[in-house]
Amino acid sequence: MPIQALPPEVIDQIAAGEVVERPASVVKELVENSVDAGAGRVSVCISGGGIERIEVTDDGQGIPGAELELALGRHQTSKLMAFDDLMGIRSFGFRGEALPSIASVSRLRLQSRPPGEAGGMAIEAEGGRVSAALPVAMAPGTQVTVEDLFRQVPARRKFLLAPQVEARRVVTVLERLALASPAVAFTLAIDGEEVLRTSGSGNLSEVFADLFGVDVAEGLVPVEARGEAGRVHGLVSRPGRDRGNRQWQFLVVGGRPVEVGRLRYPIEAAYQGRLLKGRFPVYCLRLDVPSGDLDVNVHPAKLEVRLRREREVAALLHEAVGRSLAPAPRLREAPPAPEPVAGEVAAAGEPQDLFRLADALQEYGRPAQAAADVAVGDVPAVLGQAGGLYLVAAARDALYLFDQHAVHERIHYEQLEHQDVRSAQLLLSPLVVRLSAAQSQTLALHEGDLAAYGFAVEGFGDRDVVVRAVPRLFGRAAGPDLLPELLDALAQGGEGPVEREERLRRELAACRASVKDHDRLGPLEQQSLVRQLWNCREPRFCPHGRPTYLRLGYDELRQRFLRR
Ligand code: ADP
Ligand code: MG
Repeated sequence: MPIQALPPEVIDQIAAGEVVERPASVVKELVENSVDAGAGRVSVCISGGGIERIEVTDDGQGIPGAELELALGRHQTSKLMAFDDLMGIRSFGFRGEALPSIASVSRLRLQSRPPGEAGGMAIEAEGGRVSAALPVAMAPGTQVTVEDLFRQVPARRKFLLAPQVEARRVVTVLERLALASPAVAFTLAIDGEEVLRTSGSGNLSEVFADLFGVDVAEGLVPVEARGEAGRVHGLVSRPGRDRGNRQWQFLVVGGRPVEVGRLRYPIEAAYQGRLLKGRFPVYCLRLDVPSGDLDVNVHPAKLEVRLRREREVAALLHEAVGRSLAPAPRLREAPPAPEPVAGEVAAAGEPQDLFRLADALQEYGRPAQAAADVAVGDVPAVLGQAGGLYLVAAARDALYLFDQHAVHERIHYEQLEHQDVRSAQLLLSPLVVRLSAAQSQTLALHEGDLAAYGFAVEGFGDRDVVVRAVPRLFGRAAGPDLLPELLDALAQGGEGPVEREERLRRELAACRASVKDHDRLGPLEQQSLVRQLWNCREPRFCPHGRPTYLRLGYDELRQRFLRR
């Protein structure tokens, strides 16, 4: 075949492969155009999963009749004049590719009426041919209708999934755009039934409530931080309000919803010790960086962006989220001494402590619960132990049940931050331990971390090892099972050094707590335990994310006993 120029409609169809993959990508491009046009309301209707029909209507600035045909031309845009404008561009669009690409793989009708005009004009395009503009009666704004997607490109149509699945993706696209533009009111109807509506009030928490329910919105706390790398603000779920998947994690960079990508790690790391395995936080974080630090032109559909100072941004996100999660209801400094000493029980929190706790919790954004939790500082009487594992305590307006194991785990976990409980405690008689093959592999992997926490183990590579020292936190409580049990708990690899050390700390705390479970605690030790928990940075959860206590309000009890 001789070399020849591709016909324009083939060029368009090839380009369409990049931006128009499926109905959801058409919806994304059209809705972004509406938001770019300053629309206050955008309504989307799809049928047949969007394959049969997509209609997007907005009340934005419209397109003058004379420019309608231009809008369908390749690389025709009203949003960008020079390449330099790209850095820090605020509009969604700038490539002038979406409309011609969509038109090349569907039947497209574009009608628009700028607010000052008496009526609108409409054009239609099919297979690269554009009709003459004709007048239409319509409200100010723009309406784009796309029918029969990929009819001319059966190869692509084959890749589409069932209409319900395609429709589900359209919903996701709208969720992301609604969270990125809280001041725009969105509606989505699927086959004539409205499935999504946001108020456009501008309030992010209201968008969450509109999209995912009031319950989810109520589980969120605000994040707000500024650093040299930029500014981050938004909402994150507080501990205990997490989910079993990452579906409700949203990141908006420079106003654009983007894939969270690897920035999810610093965000999730901020929940360290507050999430159960397999649980994930809910969030929508908006990140703004200086315009020179952001490149949006790295992905045709702009789902990814490039950040010049990604490391600093990661640190900013980590710190910002961590700060908004930490209620820090610290009554006193955490005591360096690891063991609760019988006979040395401090009086329950003084009044000013309670106020500080109240403030901290209030700031934490949980006013109703805060008022209730304050009473915990008011516990002088731990009533006793029940079921071998639970401590029962009475406060002014509630009963509290503590999970002794979880409480111990939390206390030991935070104590392990202190160097002195990690440093080595030499054992009077060294322990000889036989390891399984898997355990000795794990030992080799964690060798450095274990030593940093005070373990002295000899005989690597061999199945019989000698433990000469353990972290001081264990002291005399260390038995021959400690190392094998710890290694079993550590047995999965694949994480980075920070996560590995964090897991070691968690599992050490768990091992220490199981030893304590066998101890019978006297009344003074029980009180001391509750006091130590209250001195923790995060008293509500064990390091694996399980709750440390349950509160039974007297109000609730009255209701349950059917009293008024
Ligand atoms: P881009 O968004 O990259 O500029 P598009 O092909 O998506 O390219 O749109 C081309 C042009 O059509 C836009 O620059 C804009 O001027 C106009 N346009 C498209 N949709 C709308 C709309 N809903 N309201 C007003 N103008 C629009
Ligand atoms: Mg566009």
